[in-house]
Amino acid sequence: MLSNVPVSNIKGIGEKIESDLYEMGIETVEDFLFYFPFRYDVHEIKPITELEHQEKATLVGKVVSEPSLAFYGRKKSRLVVTLEIDQIAVKAVFFNQTYVKKHLKQGELITVIGKWDQHRLQITVSQFKKGKVKEKDTIQPVYSLRGKVSLGFLRKTMRYALQTYKNEIEEILPEEFLTSYKLPPRIQALEQMHFPGNGHLLKHAKRRFIYEELLLFQLKMQWLRKQKREATMGNAIKIDSDRTNAFVQSLPFSLTEAQSKALEEILNDLQRPYRMNRLLQGDVGSGKTVVAAIGLYAAISAGKQGALMVPTEILAEQHHESLQELFADQAEVVLLSGSVKGKKRKEILHKIESNEAQIIVGTHALIQDDVFFHDLGFVIVDEQHRFGVEQRRALRDKGLQPDVLFMTATPIPRTLAITSFGDMDVSVIDEMPEGRKPVETYWVKENMLNRVLRFIYKEMKNGHQAYVICPLVEESDKLDIQNAVDLHQQLKALFPNDVKVGLMHGRLHTDEKEDVMQQFANNELHVLVSTTVVEVGVNVPNATIMFIYDAERFGLSQLHQLRGRVGRGDAQSYCILLADPKSETGKERMRIMSETNDGFELSEHDLKLRGPGDFFGKKQSGLPEFKVADLVQDYRALETARKDAVEIIESGKLFTDPSYQKLKTRVENDPYVKGQVLD
Ligand code: ADP
Ligand code: MG
Repeated sequence: MLSNVPVSNIKGIGEKIESDLYEMGIETVEDFLFYFPFRYDVHEIKPITELEHQEKATLVGKVVSEPSLAFYGRKKSRLVVTLEIDQIAVKAVFFNQTYVKKHLKQGELITVIGKWDQHRLQITVSQFKKGKVKEKDTIQPVYSLRGKVSLGFLRKTMRYALQTYKNEIEEILPEEFLTSYKLPPRIQALEQMHFPGNGHLLKHAKRRFIYEELLLFQLKMQWLRKQKREATMGNAIKIDSDRTNAFVQSLPFSLTEAQSKALEEILNDLQRPYRMNRLLQGDVGSGKTVVAAIGLYAAISAGKQGALMVPTEILAEQHHESLQELFADQAEVVLLSGSVKGKKRKEILHKIESNEAQIIVGTHALIQDDVFFHDLGFVIVDEQHRFGVEQRRALRDKGLQPDVLFMTATPIPRTLAITSFGDMDVSVIDEMPEGRKPVETYWVKENMLNRVLRFIYKEMKNGHQAYVICPLVEESDKLDIQNAVDLHQQLKALFPNDVKVGLMHGRLHTDEKEDVMQQFANNELHVLVSTTVVEVGVNVPNATIMFIYDAERFGLSQLHQLRGRVGRGDAQSYCILLADPKSETGKERMRIMSETNDGFELSEHDLKLRGPGDFFGKKQSGLPEFKVADLVQDYRALETARKDAVEIIESGKLFTDPSYQKLKTRVENDPYVKGQVLD
């Protein structure tokens, strides 16, 4: 196999070059052959009349004058020759390329590439060729190169390597895929990637490798998913369906279709013998928590305990309260967070261990060593991205193969969901409960500030409340706080005394934060000036205004999260974005925010504006790097590959059908697949 042959086996690759190639990530012959150009420069030959001033142009012309060569300065030269192109005389100028002179014969054709000067009818030549270029030479692959590896060397060696190893480059896709998707065979496509014959052939070669790359990736994901399931047999929870249904019936509303579907998926997982590994995503307010609660109820109907872990104390308290209300006398719900201490904590720990408590809500306090569960069967992690892998695992290890449900209120674009969470099952709630009034969003400039403040005051007079999110200064959290403090002072001075203005930021002590939040929740504070700490989960239905300063500094997802803090009650709510974006994308973001309330639609826009790498933030994107595929542009191919991969794995073809043998070997030997701890 070429993946086992060191690259130095290729003739002409010595030690020096070899170490440069290593730096380019090339160690084997296969690496070398599949080292693709990152770009292709296309030099289309256009009629002179269609060229724009200063454009990089490719021209073919007849030499009609003697070249004139002049030297100036030290070692500098200027060579000029007249070409006839479409019966127009054009001057070609070569700087410091004296050697060209001997190739310029009157009456012969030459091709020149360079910068076009429309006023002087002149081209400053950077590349020159005798004769007329062939079509294939007008497409130039551009590689990323290192050290002694020049473009010329790479191309020469590539041509040689393709010749030498031609017979060992194996097709890995089954024939039926090539036929039904009209993909070129692997070897042919490989040649086209390095030496494109024309634009059409190159396009199909790329199409082939994009599909191949995405299919392999999806196969790995689907395989891991299958293995994880099979490695975790046991623990089929016997839920009491009648009791669970009765509980659903007793809710003051009926579930939306999307909620019912997600619930069904969750209940099915609970009852199956493998461990649930599911992500539940849905916009803020779409009703995830209710679905999770029913799941918890089902688990306790089977005699199990359920735990809900959330990232902040405030959230833990809110969930604790609402679950207590929801379950009333049907289950004992306890709260375990950092601020629960001493005797109270002992008491709760005892309840958890003795099964007196069936539902346990908490922060990461849940995963401390001295917390023992009686029989933890179902674990829910809210805002999963706020916890590390270790923390999530620690909670899971508190039970015996408990089912695990992750929740997120960040709608993730479908393409990213199936790549980042490809080895998980995903449920989506993409529909809001009926009767919800969509939040009205307005984008305003600084000169509207007084009107906005008057509007806020009017809403206060009607008994409502407002969040004011403070200018964000990315570089420093200290400055953010200073901004919040200043703004708090300003607003206090601006509003009449009957408007109580509160302040919230990350540097406040946990108790103080809770205190402020509690006052706001009780309507003792009317306006809450805050940094983005209010972002996650907090529920104050009486708040109807979300006013965001310097909104252009926030990403779409974050703006949408903030907007989700309002519109939680019956009254009409408003989101006001104060922004004066300079860039086009900034303006685009404000427009999109004003136009749509749909988190999923918004996340697709966000992905397009920011690109896949930035979507989750730099640190923990968890996204694979693709060589040829682009998650934004190639989403159709990705969907196709995903569908095919599921079918190939579920049908068992990968393991039994000989025409899938090569794919199977690739998946099996993939370092990522091998490195996964199947726990
Ligand atoms: P999420 O966790 O997705 O932000 P919640 O589950 O907290 O959403 O629900 C938000 C609010 O909507 C809660 O007050 C909840 O009681 C209510 N709610 C949930 N589902 C429905 C529904 N199907 N019909 C009406 N109200 C609902
Ligand atoms: Mg929630």
